[in-house]
Amino acid sequence: MKFNPVIEHLKTYEPGKPIELVVREFGIDPKDIVKLASNENPKGCSPKAAKVVADAASLMYRYPDDSMMELKAALCQRFGISEKEIIIGAGSDQIIEFLCHAKLYGGAKILQSEVTFAMYQIYAAACGASVIKAPGLAHDLDAMYKLYKEHEPEIIFICAPNNPTGDCLDLKDIENFIEKIDENTLVVVDGAYQEYASYKDPNKAINPADLINKFSNTIYLGTFSKAYGLGGMRVGYGIASEHIIKSLYKLRPPFNVTTLSLIAAVESLKDSEFVEESIKECFEQMNSYIEFAQKFGIKVIESYTNFITYILDGINDSTFIADALLRQGIIVRNLKGYGLNAIRITIGKENENQRFFNAMQELLKTGK
Ligand SMILES: *Cc1c(COP(=O)(O)O)cnc(C)c1O
Repeated sequence: MKFNPVIEHLKTYEPGKPIELVVREFGIDPKDIVKLASNENPKGCSPKAAKVVADAASLMYRYPDDSMMELKAALCQRFGISEKEIIIGAGSDQIIEFLCHAKLYGGAKILQSEVTFAMYQIYAAACGASVIKAPGLAHDLDAMYKLYKEHEPEIIFICAPNNPTGDCLDLKDIENFIEKIDENTLVVVDGAYQEYASYKDPNKAINPADLINKFSNTIYLGTFSKAYGLGGMRVGYGIASEHIIKSLYKLRPPFNVTTLSLIAAVESLKDSEFVEESIKECFEQMNSYIEFAQKFGIKVIESYTNFITYILDGINDSTFIADALLRQGIIVRNLKGYGLNAIRITIGKENENQRFFNAMQELLKTGK
């Protein structure tokens, strides 16, 4: 059977290995598996959110409230924006998909940093667009500006903080960059880890309302999958000026966010204590990762997220390490696919992190 040639050449996104797969492949007891691969919240989700979802379970026979009134109202209040300036998706991934469909057609281009969230280029390529990459581990905004002038891309993606490196641009640098971008180019500021960055350093904090008031060509993306611990519920959002949101709405399938997901997100937003605790504990635990790296001469990138990237150049091979850890039931992310000899580790609970340190220490001792 023949398919759209664009699809034929598309790579399938490889998500962090699910626990179920490791159980089946290696016969490891699920409770012995430590999953540090998908940047989930190791504390789980707000217990209050879990309770309202359990209480509402019998509502699943009905279609969801397609106006998403309650969640929209809660987010509008949180961010000081109007309901016309927000769209909610099945994860912010779905908003990225809408954006690509809305902007990319016939020889279109996107511009991104070389090492960044893989879904930008997957959705863009699926729309037949070509992908321009500014080289380097971190977002090099000067290089990006030069490439923007040269290629005039339809969309520019900025991931702040960046996944999978963990570093983060300062807000003022992002703003100085967007100021120079033409009104017709859509700038996407992906804030999937903003809760962590703004906690750690106010210079990295993005206020979505300010951002979209300054720049009518910019959309801010947020998600409930990371700090809020709702990865399994698939809820994300885009905040932008009304004319952008209006176009995205035309691409939204009806009922794209489930009843229970909407309920979970509303309740999670109220439980700010849970989110704050999660972030605090994350950075406390991250210190042990920094200490471990120093002890073994591993280079780390300063992280403003809930994960840390170990660069293994001169130490070992990231594929060997990731595979060897996996056989012991410890799932981390190998970054070979990004062209890096590095692993990305989600900061887990103390006992999970200890499992990682013990296994890693043994591997580094015995070499390859
Ligand atoms: C996790 C993540 C997202 C989106 O996650 P969803 O679960 O689809 O909301 C978007 N961007 C980055 C950089 C991420 O790491």
